[in-house]
Amino acid sequence: MKVIEHISKSNGTLFSFEIVPPPRGKTITAVTDVVETLLPHNPSWIDVTAHPAGAYYNERPDGTIERKIYKKRPGTIGICGVIQNRFRVDTVTHLLTQGFTKEETEDAMIELNFLGIHNVLALRGDGLNYNKQYDKSRSVNHYAIDLVKQINDVKNGRFLDELSQSLPLDFGVGVAGYPEKHFEAPSLKLDIQHLKDKVDAGADYIATQMFFKNEKYFQFVELCRQAGIQVPIVPGIKVIKNLKQFNSVPSNFYVDFPDEFVEEAHANPKHVEEIGINFAIKQCEELVNAKVPSLHFYVMNDAKSVAQVVKKFF
Ligand code: FAD
Repeated sequence: MKVIEHISKSNGTLFSFEIVPPPRGKTITAVTDVVETLLPHNPSWIDVTAHPAGAYYNERPDGTIERKIYKKRPGTIGICGVIQNRFRVDTVTHLLTQGFTKEETEDAMIELNFLGIHNVLALRGDGLNYNKQYDKSRSVNHYAIDLVKQINDVKNGRFLDELSQSLPLDFGVGVAGYPEKHFEAPSLKLDIQHLKDKVDAGADYIATQMFFKNEKYFQFVELCRQAGIQVPIVPGIKVIKNLKQFNSVPSNFYVDFPDEFVEEAHANPKHVEEIGINFAIKQCEELVNAKVPSLHFYVMNDAKSVAQVVKKFF
């Protein structure tokens, strides 16, 4: 089923989560262990993030530098295939514009259809750390909206490769939204206008960046509705586990913590994990009472603390 079907068939708040493919060299058990820990709480869908290739530098013994370009976290489509076909839970494959040509995106959609995966989250990505040269015969998407449009074309049987034109593919499409504004956008109003454009281009739900102040989410939903965005807006939740994350999370995701949460954690450094779980439980209680479509957890492969939170609700 598509994410939008899960949401429209449900009377209450659902549970869903997102995992990051493990680093290169690990095996599929790094993923299946996470899924097995959270499976008893009946997730409606599981997202798997995507990662383009990057440039990595290595100093040789003679002091010269060697540059290699490779994927640090391979396997988004394969991981979705394993989860969906082994655990019978719908998966959402993240697709990026950055680092991928339109031709590669089309190939990915054909592969997803082959595996029975019919959900994608259409994203731009956060920039490549090297100057990728594209073959002149290939084309690229820029913003996430361009990807949404390409997916829509494929849904209508319009392929880049005319040989494939006979088989329209069926996908539910999500896009990203930012309750605290995307860091590049000059204003929240303009960011929401770009979000509306993505929805008008064919996205059927929005998944939000993580946030720790529910009022930011509620205000964002209100502003989206005022802007004419009617699709479900799924809130993103992160369970904080250690003190380091109070610095790494804002610098990576441009989000803010409530003062009391920061102060309580720093005053009790040995109990940060418990404080993080209790904070997330309270945050989720308010969201469930507000009848949000799903509590969507950024697991980032730390399933145990997420399980402590979700067992209270699911
Ligand atoms: P876009 O919607 O393209 O927006 C990017 C910026 O451009 C925004 O500031 C927007 O306001 C602006 N903009 C949009 N359209 C226009 C226009 N026409 N003219 C001018 N400005 C415009 N990253 C990964 O690498 N892999 C993942 O798997 C991944 N998963 C994510 C999941 C979620 C739920 C979220 C919230 C983020 C995820 N990200 C992921 C991060 C995401 O790729 C970055 O936040 C990225 O910087 C923006 O992606 P986007 O799809 O929101 O971009």
